[in-house]
Amino acid sequence: ENGTAVFRRLLDPQRELLNSTSVFLFDCDGVIWLGDKLIQGVPETLDYLRSLGKRCFFVTNNSTKSRAGYVKKFTSLGLKVSPEEIFSSSFAAAAYLESKNFKATGKKVYIIGEVGIEEELDLLKIPHIGGPADKDKQPRMGPGDKLEVDPDVGAVVVGFDRYFNYYKAQYANVCIREHGAEFIATNTDAVTHLTDAQEWAGNGTMVGAIRGCTQVEPTVVGKPSPLMIDYLANKFQIPKSEICVVGDRLDTDVLFGKRNGTRAVLCLSGVTTEERLFSQNEVIPDYFCDSISDFKPR
Ligand code: PLP
Ligand code: CA
Repeated sequence: ENGTAVFRRLLDPQRELLNSTSVFLFDCDGVIWLGDKLIQGVPETLDYLRSLGKRCFFVTNNSTKSRAGYVKKFTSLGLKVSPEEIFSSSFAAAAYLESKNFKATGKKVYIIGEVGIEEELDLLKIPHIGGPADKDKQPRMGPGDKLEVDPDVGAVVVGFDRYFNYYKAQYANVCIREHGAEFIATNTDAVTHLTDAQEWAGNGTMVGAIRGCTQVEPTVVGKPSPLMIDYLANKFQIPKSEICVVGDRLDTDVLFGKRNGTRAVLCLSGVTTEERLFSQNEVIPDYFCDSISDFKPR
């Protein structure tokens, strides 16, 4: 206990949570896998929940892959999943543009990011430029030079980009400030766990750069924004009270759930330690557990 906050450990047989939940929304990194390694007990737990008739969806803030890319990753780890069960922030960006009827504007998207965003925009036939193709570009910066941008860019999508450079920053800056393009961020995670040896600069880096030069706040489409929960609740007609978000981060996953009217469970199998959980009282999960294996009876 910490002040007024009470942290409840998920206990066998978890009847209360299982009875009131029809849909589980699992975060990926830190819950299903760590980097490229499957977390122990995940296949058995998903099988168990599905045998109870629970639907399982997977929500990741990592925009580098499309849903098709994630199906491959799940399959390579021996997990059964269909593309409709995956919600990546790359898909969230495309779905957001679709919801705004972006295609009808006849404009295109400038991408800071990797193939995941390109593939999701392609599926919706939303035209785009930039992305990996701009990885080696440099603007000319002699006297009188300026960077000419495509005047038809109506939105700039900023996702995690391991080839981020000054050209891309200036391109986005001109599109947003001179042409009024909308600034969309897939997510704003400060750090990510690209390898298990260190915390690596996350998409907060790229978003921060574009926010810094434009002084514009982005529309964030990944967790903790309500977009994916609303999309899912609408598409599958699920009351939010029957949804349980399961994640390893307080500031994205648990906040994503608690802010949007669902239950939320924090798993200690990722970035948050028990010590860190107990030392704050801003974001209180309904339960916490060591890993999702705690959802099934021992
Ligand atoms: N963004 C990047 C680039 C990542 O590598 C990761 C985790 O590996 C994330 C975001 C967070 O992903 P998730 O929401 O699945 O924890
Ligand atoms: Ca996570």
